Amino acid sequence: MGTIHSIERHRSDILILGSGGAGLFAALHARRAAPEASITIAVKGLLGKCGCTRMVQGGYNVALAAGDSAERHFMDTIEGGKWLNHQELAWRLVTGAQETIRELENEIGCFFDRNADGTVHQKAFAGQTFDRTVHKGDLTGIEIINRLSEQVWNAGVRRMEDHRAIAMIPSREGDAIAGVLLIDMRSGAFHLVQARAVLLATGGGPTMYRYHTPSGDKSCDGMAMALRVGLSLRDMEMVQFHPTGLLAGLDTRMTGTVLEEGLRGAGGYLLGGDRQRFMHKYDPKLERATRDIVSRAIYQEMLDGNVSPMGGVYLQMHHLGADNVRRQFKGMVERCEDCGFDLAGGLVEVVPTAHYMMGGVEFEPDCRSTIDGLFVAGEDSGGVHGANRLGGNGVANSTVFGRIAGRSMGERVLAGAPLHEPDTHAMEAGVAAALAPLRQPPGDVGELRAALAALMWDKVGILRDASGLASACGELTALDEAMDHIGVEGASLAYNLSWHDWLNLKSLILVSRTITAAAMAREDSRGAHFRSDHPLSGAEEESSFTRVRLADGALAVSMQAVDFTRVRPGQTLIDDEQAA
Ligand SMILES: Cc1cc2nc3c(=O)[nH]c(=O)nc-3n(C[C@H](O)[C@H](O)[C@H](O)COP(=O)(O)OP(=O)(O)OC[C@H]3O[C@@H](n4cnc5c(N)ncnc54)[C@H](O)[C@@H]3O)c2cc1C
Repeated sequence: MGTIHSIERHRSDILILGSGGAGLFAALHARRAAPEASITIAVKGLLGKCGCTRMVQGGYNVALAAGDSAERHFMDTIEGGKWLNHQELAWRLVTGAQETIRELENEIGCFFDRNADGTVHQKAFAGQTFDRTVHKGDLTGIEIINRLSEQVWNAGVRRMEDHRAIAMIPSREGDAIAGVLLIDMRSGAFHLVQARAVLLATGGGPTMYRYHTPSGDKSCDGMAMALRVGLSLRDMEMVQFHPTGLLAGLDTRMTGTVLEEGLRGAGGYLLGGDRQRFMHKYDPKLERATRDIVSRAIYQEMLDGNVSPMGGVYLQMHHLGADNVRRQFKGMVERCEDCGFDLAGGLVEVVPTAHYMMGGVEFEPDCRSTIDGLFVAGEDSGGVHGANRLGGNGVANSTVFGRIAGRSMGERVLAGAPLHEPDTHAMEAGVAAALAPLRQPPGDVGELRAALAALMWDKVGILRDASGLASACGELTALDEAMDHIGVEGASLAYNLSWHDWLNLKSLILVSRTITAAAMAREDSRGAHFRSDHPLSGAEEESSFTRVRLADGALAVSMQAVDFTRVRPGQTLIDDEQAA
């Protein structure tokens, strides 16, 4: 390998990648656990302004009200996850949410909506047996991230904004994490941050699909880095589609953004291109069926050609009274109006949209990964949600486990964990991989990304089968090879967004291969994963989850038996008194 490219080196006791709910909570709790420690947050955008936690509309699930309980929230989470969840992680989620929501209100300073009697207002969300979703109107994420950011700005945390992590660097001996290689996107310079503890909290994000909801900074970089450094990922076939993404036309980022579930909950209708309702063909709960069922129904109508002009279906609300809709769904009505559509009085075209990845890095309830010193939290992690995430459990997941990770990392520093010397070969390889596109003849990266989006949507999306998955597998390999021949202009590395598009695509292709491999291995249908050639869900007692690893460039998939550590299928933790 050639001489090493110039890399500016830094040291920090704790390095956090990402500034969503997981990253920011981790910073605050690391500070609390280890007041003297140096803490750095490195993030691909601006702290407080990027990632998906900021985009949370609906709210935060927590068992707070009289009559609700952690056990009930746990059972909803396990049943929603179709018994694939890691039960100790799910238990941490539901009990941790009770502590974290109090911290958010009483220490971080969030205002959530309240009832007239002063108690916190909690609304109904699909798949839950109790109204437990705490919210601030339909802008809950902005409230949480703004207040958290203020606290972090004040906590003596070093910020490396517009810094993109590109590789996890192991120690020279290979027995621990030594640090992370990053690109300063403002200049193009390489940086290595050596740290005693590193948190991966870059938030997953299924942006490889034609229609998707997450923010553009999310391109599965964290999962790709985790695979490359040897970590295993679980449940990767489990990609959640939200049924009603806005169809606003080509070439606008508004296409794919969510029109919230409450619209269907309030009585909204879905109509095919023939302007007739169709949900009666699929589920007795009609438009109020769960996300996976409604998404599959819409997709089937699309396959059958019963489509609106832009290729989706219609959402109709006006039968509920236009003024009423305007009052109840102000944010949604305005979002549609901005795009030229009348949600209150007319019809709006919608399409299922890739929303959330239940899968991610395998981890312990204290957020440790299998690499010493490397921790994981939030949407980069897998196991909490099993085969499906309940709406409202996403932001609870990122804040609860961010909090735990911060404490674990602080304790590691206090216990005297060393700074390891980095493996220079891994650094050189990381730099060489990042510079590769600048040395290849410039080409159309956008065309490759469009090809990825089309193949993931058509063959690894809402309906899957063996032949589609096998063909996707071959096409993904071909796309990856094409990336080795198509480069980008490299005259200036400062804010070279084409370069970053190329790097984004590289991460997305690797993680798409992982989703495809896991989807091929799971020969049944559970939660978000539906195989038209294996439509049955299999015996819950014999549930197993997928584990994928990358070794010598090839993905190895295995099926692992679920350990029912708290409750077995057919049992419940809810006692008779609670059930009454
Ligand atoms: C439109 C929308 C609505 C949602 N509504 C709800 C809801 O109502 N309730 C709910 O529970 N959940 C909801 N979710 C899901 C929820 O947002 C996520 O589950 C959760 O907030 C993820 O938190 P996180 O900290 O893991 O990741 P994020 O908040 O996404 O943060 C990831 C961070 O990592 C950074 N990053 C990415 N790549 C790199 C890199 N290479 N180097 C450095 N930094 C990097 C990003 O810039 C960002 O700062 C919604 C999601 C979307 C998209």
